[in-house]
Amino acid sequence: MKRWNGWGRDDYHYALPDTAYDYLVNTVGKGVRAPDAALEETLKTVPESRCPDHPLVSIDPEDRLRHARGQSVPDWIAMRFGEFGAFPDGVAHPSTDEDVADLLVYARRTGTRLIPYGGGSSVVGHVNPLMDGPPVVSVDMTGMDSLLDLDRKSWLAAIGAGASGPRVEEQLSENGFRLGHYPQSWEFSTIGGWIATRSSGQQSYYYGRIEDTFAGGHMETLDGPMDIPPFPASAAGPDLRHLVLGSEGRLGIITNAVMRVRPLPQAEKFYGVFFPTWEKGQAALQQAVQAGLPLSTMRLSNPMETETTLQLSGKEKLVSLAHTGLGLIGYGDERCLLIYGVTGTHRDVSRGRRAASSVFSKHSGFMPFELIGKMWEKSRFTSPYLRNTLWDKGYVLDTFETALPWRCVNDYTADVLEKVRSASEDAGVPLLIFAHLSHVYSDGASVYITYLFPKLPTAEENLEHWRKCKAASAEAIVAHSATISHQHGVGVDHAPYLEAEKGEVGMHILRDLCRSMDPDGLLNPGKLIEDTKNQRRHG
Ligand SMILES: Cc1cc2nc3c(=O)[nH]c(=O)nc-3n(C[C@H](O)[C@H](O)[C@H](O)COP(=O)(O)OP(=O)(O)OC[C@H]3O[C@@H](n4cnc5c(N)ncnc54)[C@H](O)[C@@H]3O)c2cc1C
Repeated sequence: MKRWNGWGRDDYHYALPDTAYDYLVNTVGKGVRAPDAALEETLKTVPESRCPDHPLVSIDPEDRLRHARGQSVPDWIAMRFGEFGAFPDGVAHPSTDEDVADLLVYARRTGTRLIPYGGGSSVVGHVNPLMDGPPVVSVDMTGMDSLLDLDRKSWLAAIGAGASGPRVEEQLSENGFRLGHYPQSWEFSTIGGWIATRSSGQQSYYYGRIEDTFAGGHMETLDGPMDIPPFPASAAGPDLRHLVLGSEGRLGIITNAVMRVRPLPQAEKFYGVFFPTWEKGQAALQQAVQAGLPLSTMRLSNPMETETTLQLSGKEKLVSLAHTGLGLIGYGDERCLLIYGVTGTHRDVSRGRRAASSVFSKHSGFMPFELIGKMWEKSRFTSPYLRNTLWDKGYVLDTFETALPWRCVNDYTADVLEKVRSASEDAGVPLLIFAHLSHVYSDGASVYITYLFPKLPTAEENLEHWRKCKAASAEAIVAHSATISHQHGVGVDHAPYLEAEKGEVGMHILRDLCRSMDPDGLLNPGKLIEDTKNQRRHG
């Protein structure tokens, strides 16, 4: 069963080796280890439901609690301390387009707010009910998860919007196809969520971001059903897919999506390559992407992330090889690890690897290590479980990301690491912070930052500290004219920073669009765009 207060299934534990714990203690000290709030006790805080009856809406307290929060740090603090603050009044479980249309009629008739809910893996507060205001129903889409149609000739698959990553690929692979959208949250996040947040998967360099694979589909709106036909391309005015992409549940509920899929690859391999410095690694990636190297993943860790990844792996032999072996050839503390992947036919894979070796070696890239690539592949969807273990051991972990042109990547990365570290240390809390380039484009890259601090005694202290780090990171992003999000979306946490990149006119257009499609603010209010009233109050 899915955990109610953290990431993943209840029955999977990601062990943290003793050496890795010692590394954390030596780096940032010990955090507070205290028992979490118990489910039974937290259930007692769920208030009576206020929503009018509807046959599809459950008012079961546990169902409501399990849909009250996503996976952001404020969400984790709320769940682990048992201080939720707000709960949906009910949870709807539709299984057809008609069910969803009926729920929209119910919302209009009763004034009940609806929050579309996919896997609940949002890390920016997308699925949380606001603290005040009218009744709220969370609309859980996971009952709509079937492969509805597969056009083998056109490589198009219509899939229910509530299908999680494994459901998508299981149904496609039975038919010899793959979507290839692999966010790290793949185990639980859904097609509808990916589209509504403009998600990006780890192999987007080959399979494309969600906007590249989303060809069309169906959305139920307050004005009625909206079909978007899957044209290969069209010059018929603005593309309505782009209203749906990134709509964060504010414009309607996506019920199915027609996705561009590909035949299953014959072969796929991942490799690790070390570079002596972050600058050399970046130059290699920039050349690789601008030369159009036939790879499927490129992910470059900075020196601190490289070291921390090796330490947390618990593979002592590997760590010692990295320290002594790489040290002998002059790759010291500044070394950086690149993971790259090659996908396609057997020939494509050999060709891709040869082409990669040729470019990477020009920038002093050392060895394609298949063992490191395999380790990364094995843990790519289990590593989020480490967050549970870290919390239990007394550490709070968060991530944030952006994208910006190549010429700005270095300055931004150095600056944001410094700003967030100072914000934390000025408040007397040590911070471990590191970066990687997670997605690369010919004109720039996505910079993904992870940071961790020792857990503080109370919910409010942790929340307050997180707010300081969030403000420092978002302000640095804005100061460097970067986007507030490359893949996580806006939700509530990034909404105050949206205007910096959309501008005043852009914000008017977005507000008018929401107002025209949802004049009464029934759909996921307070997310994406800061509504003037009913803003979420943390804690
Ligand atoms: C451990 C972890 C790793 C992650 N890694 C990545 C990553 O690699 N790449 C990435 O892009 N993101 C990542 N994320 C963020 C998150 O997984 C994505 O934002 C994902 O797209 C959310 O999908 P979901 O189905 O869980 O949506 P939810 O969290 O349930 O909802 C997100 C938003 O989408 C809306 N929505 C959901 N379904 C529908 C629908 N059918 N119709 C209309 N609106 C809908 C909701 O109302 C909400 O506003 C990660 C999150 C976690 C916790």
